[in-house]
Amino acid sequence: MSGPPPVGAPVLFPLPFDKPYDYLAGETDPPSPGAFVRAPLGPRERIGVVWRSDRPAGERAIDPSRLKPLVARLDAPALSADVMAFVEWVAAYTMFPLGSVLRLVMRGGDALRPVKAATGYLLGPGQDVDAVATTPGRRAVVAAAAAAGAPATARALAQAAGVGEGVVRGLVAAGALESVAIDPDVPFAPPDLDAPGRALSADQEQAAARAAALVDETKPKPLLIDGVTGSGKTEVYLEAVAAALRADPQAQALILLPEIALTLPFLERVAERFRAAPAAWHADVKPAERRRVWKRVADGSARIVVGARSALFLPFRNLRLIVVDEEHESAYKQEDGVVYHGRDMAVARAALGRFPVLLASATPSLETVVNVEAGRYDFVRLSSRFGPAQLPAVNLVDLRRTPAEPGAWLAPELVNAVDRRLARREQSLLFINRRGYAPLTICRRCGHRMKAPDSDTWLVEHRFENRLVCHHTGFSMPKPAACPNCGAVGGLAACGPGVERLAEEVARRWPDARSAVLSSDTAQTPAALQETLARMKAGDVDILVATQVVAKGHTFPGLTLVGVVDADMGLAGGDLRAAERPFQLISQVTGRAGRADKPGAALLQTYQPDAPVLRALAAGDRDSFLEAEAEGRRRLGFPPYGRLAAVILRSADETALKAAADAHRAALAPARDVAVWGPAPAPIYRLRGEARIRFLVKAARDVRVQGFLEDWLARVKLRGPVRRTVDIDPYSFL
Ligand code: ADP
Repeated sequence: MSGPPPVGAPVLFPLPFDKPYDYLAGETDPPSPGAFVRAPLGPRERIGVVWRSDRPAGERAIDPSRLKPLVARLDAPALSADVMAFVEWVAAYTMFPLGSVLRLVMRGGDALRPVKAATGYLLGPGQDVDAVATTPGRRAVVAAAAAAGAPATARALAQAAGVGEGVVRGLVAAGALESVAIDPDVPFAPPDLDAPGRALSADQEQAAARAAALVDETKPKPLLIDGVTGSGKTEVYLEAVAAALRADPQAQALILLPEIALTLPFLERVAERFRAAPAAWHADVKPAERRRVWKRVADGSARIVVGARSALFLPFRNLRLIVVDEEHESAYKQEDGVVYHGRDMAVARAALGRFPVLLASATPSLETVVNVEAGRYDFVRLSSRFGPAQLPAVNLVDLRRTPAEPGAWLAPELVNAVDRRLARREQSLLFINRRGYAPLTICRRCGHRMKAPDSDTWLVEHRFENRLVCHHTGFSMPKPAACPNCGAVGGLAACGPGVERLAEEVARRWPDARSAVLSSDTAQTPAALQETLARMKAGDVDILVATQVVAKGHTFPGLTLVGVVDADMGLAGGDLRAAERPFQLISQVTGRAGRADKPGAALLQTYQPDAPVLRALAAGDRDSFLEAEAEGRRRLGFPPYGRLAAVILRSADETALKAAADAHRAALAPARDVAVWGPAPAPIYRLRGEARIRFLVKAARDVRVQGFLEDWLARVKLRGPVRRTVDIDPYSFL
């Protein structure tokens, strides 16, 4: 025998495996941890990542005769140690398999496959350009090619010159432009870090300085930017982004937003600040652009990423700052696949990488407020709006005393308030957080409620499309003419208001006003949505009827009235955050009013004017509301004072489900400071044909609830068609 011993490489695949598998790596120059490789797995080849070995150093526990060799090493930058540590941390925290978490990192479309080169064009040398650039269009293209400084695609040149691609081709045929092969995943233009931001107010200046100073700390605490709506939190954190990128020429920064707030105006604002478009990562990004973003984040050239929660799992080469805007948003919770909370994972990611994380909100979550109070987080406060803008006066409309007339949803006081705005040529926003026409369709003859066939969910009428839709599963059907239960024709009646029905009332009451509807799923395309927003901004809409798509990030200078049609929505229900969430949402929405020089007002229609949430909203007293909420949770030992985890069992087979629930109950062993409740049926017991049951685990703060769960769940063998998921820090359970 001669030569060095064979080297093993543990490879983790993006599949639900708990650990990497060993392969033979060849003797010379074995791939280091983080490298992307192709390796045989069963009958196929798969792409995986060389993982860090957890085998003690020096131990060679591999038997080379039993290992298969790696097939290839991919030509892609290796995952950074930071990202790998984060994957391990998330897997341990959420109790999902390591490989399932790696899968979140590898969602770059086909970024790891070789791509076909695209064709780029540049000005040919020694050509008499003037002789061929005979038309204004051609001259514009030549100018664009000269300005680009690097080969650009025909499309990019045509776009820059404002002509069709045919003009570019004409120049190529004439020999003025030369074609070369280029990478289709064009790098992102670097941000201009010397571009000045806006002049900041004294408050903003101070907050920005605090945030920027964190960049130099070796182990910075998370910082809450607690600022009322319109106070300029965005301006402040963009300064911190600039500071982080200036401090290290290789640094990258990530701005997280709830998906719904990731709008073009926001991206444009970032682009304007840094004179270069950021990389965007959200559900609507097309596959080719996803591939480009993933690749450029991995090679470090995309320096600013603006994304939804899943952007946390991009393969950053050198992430040095995260901003979590609207940190209180429950939309940060990922409920499908690996269950995680984007804000919490961002805090963990920053702690592992020892870089700053900034949490911005006008209505911070109780978790964050308590972390500030306990000194785990720092905070800065922006207590007034920027410039002359004032926070709106908030008043309650008591629907018990002054109801809307039958068949209508707007009480006289709100109607009058809209009338006054119309007379003054100011804008009104009527907010109802319910999509569709009516939340419930009921047969007037037999009382039958229209339900989804495979779920215990009510179907919501969507009149624009004349369909009944389940908002939980997406199931939809044409609205039947007759009741499926008793056969009565024409008896199906809509109950309660949705955004479409409210729009109907607005059109009836104010036939001459310019009104518009904004909801994420009316027959509106994203482009139509943008157009409505632009019209609203320009003052071309008098009354906007909208769901929460308007809640964040929009400034409508002419808007002076916000009417919340059903402020009680969401207040009932056993949810831990049943009061906190409506408080946050209504604060956000009312925060749209009076953002320019005209003062704004908000009217909240309610049947429960004495509910603490509504009283706090009317008094603008966020802090005592939070205190009361905190007290309630402290008494019960609920988060953030204790820990919660859910174990959810689901099956189409109810007998098997019941047996599994019993087996879980029986396998419980008492543990100190841990209580287990359940099994309890889910509020929507059947969803997509599956029945669901939940155990809720409540533990003291210093208990590692994952350890308890591991022990417990290891004692139960899952049998038959029952699936189990663990949800650490559960939010909603429907
Ligand atoms: P927030 O994120 O706190 O709601 P924004 O950062 O969106 O607030 O600012 C609200 C509005 O005020 C925006 O239209 C923004 O452009 C404007 N604004 C805030 N700060 C400044 C500033 N220093 N100079 C000019 N405009 C500002």
